[in-house]
Amino acid sequence: MLILGIESSCDDTAAAVVRAGEGARAEVLSSVALGQDEAHAPYGGVVPEIAARAHAERLDEVVDRAVEQAGVSYGELDRIAATAGPGLVGGVMAGLTVGKGLALALGVPLVPVNHLAGHALSVLLEAEVAFPYLLLLVSGGHSQLLLVEGPDAFRRLGTTIDDAAGEAFDKTAKLLGLSGGGAGVQRAGEGGNARRFRMPRPLLGRPGCDFSFSGMKTAVRQTAEGLAPLSDGDLRDLAASFQAGAADHLVRQTEAAMMMSPARTTRLVAAGGVAANAHLRERLGTLVEKRGWSLTVPSLRYCTDNAAMIALAGAYVDPSEDALGTAPRPRWPLDEDVAGIGGGRK
Ligand code: ATP
Ligand code: FE
Repeated sequence: MLILGIESSCDDTAAAVVRAGEGARAEVLSSVALGQDEAHAPYGGVVPEIAARAHAERLDEVVDRAVEQAGVSYGELDRIAATAGPGLVGGVMAGLTVGKGLALALGVPLVPVNHLAGHALSVLLEAEVAFPYLLLLVSGGHSQLLLVEGPDAFRRLGTTIDDAAGEAFDKTAKLLGLSGGGAGVQRAGEGGNARRFRMPRPLLGRPGCDFSFSGMKTAVRQTAEGLAPLSDGDLRDLAASFQAGAADHLVRQTEAAMMMSPARTTRLVAAGGVAANAHLRERLGTLVEKRGWSLTVPSLRYCTDNAAMIALAGAYVDPSEDALGTAPRPRWPLDEDVAGIGGGRK
């Protein structure tokens, strides 16, 4: 089945064509994404109105490019999968509207996709991975540990009680005057002394596998204020110390989740933008080795937002005529009643 995916929930305008479903291994025929960093840079964060307008202006072009690069014609598409949430409502609306228009014009179903299901299944774009697997989902808005029992069956084991991991990286970047969010922190921390500054160890001794990042964020701020003005060395060491502290916490809670998982679960998957972090990937590798599990992580371009994962997740949503009336869902937990919107998910 040929699926066109559309993603516009945050600040990437993305479209992709993926062959998926019918039991075959997924194949990405094209994946196009236009970022909006420059448009938001003067404001120090994503401005929803600017994001929505940028999506609306560029979606047609991005979709055209995805179809062209895939070497297919619009008439060959079997369905349109568009992110319906969670995310910024204006952006989601822009993508859904383009998706509905295309679906109507082509006479194919529109399937509304949960953006987090996209992240959760992104690993299947490049690897054949059997269910169930334990998923560490660490993105700009979410930090969760989930058991993925099937392409549309998610059970949450833990979540953040305050900030998301990506948010903590983004705030740290801002505090230290670094561009590029979490990737900027990773770059700045290269070669730094990660042991120089002590980071808190959140939720230590508490049962379960929830996350908390607010204490770490405060520690970075206080350390930076205490040292101001920061030398290049201070900056390098502080970025490295924060990154190591965050990875430490993620790894510790992931290990707790491994112990909470049913015995037949022996694969860990990491997904979402923070899963692009090289230090975290290395630490997770060490963890699975210690516990006799295996680890699968998508390549960097499929960790951060992309439309290929949305197209793939769209293969597992049952088409419904009501879908053309789908409204954006700014909040849409993954493990909620998986019937989802429009009766979409089984
Ligand atoms: P959500 O998926 O929860 O709606 P989102 O779509 O904005 O949020 P993603 O695109 O999955 O999130 O990930 C973006 C996040 O990943 C940002 O917070 C960014 O700082 C972080 N990130 C990207 N690369 C790295 C890296 N190398 N190290 C740490 N964090 C990173
Ligand atoms: Fe995302």
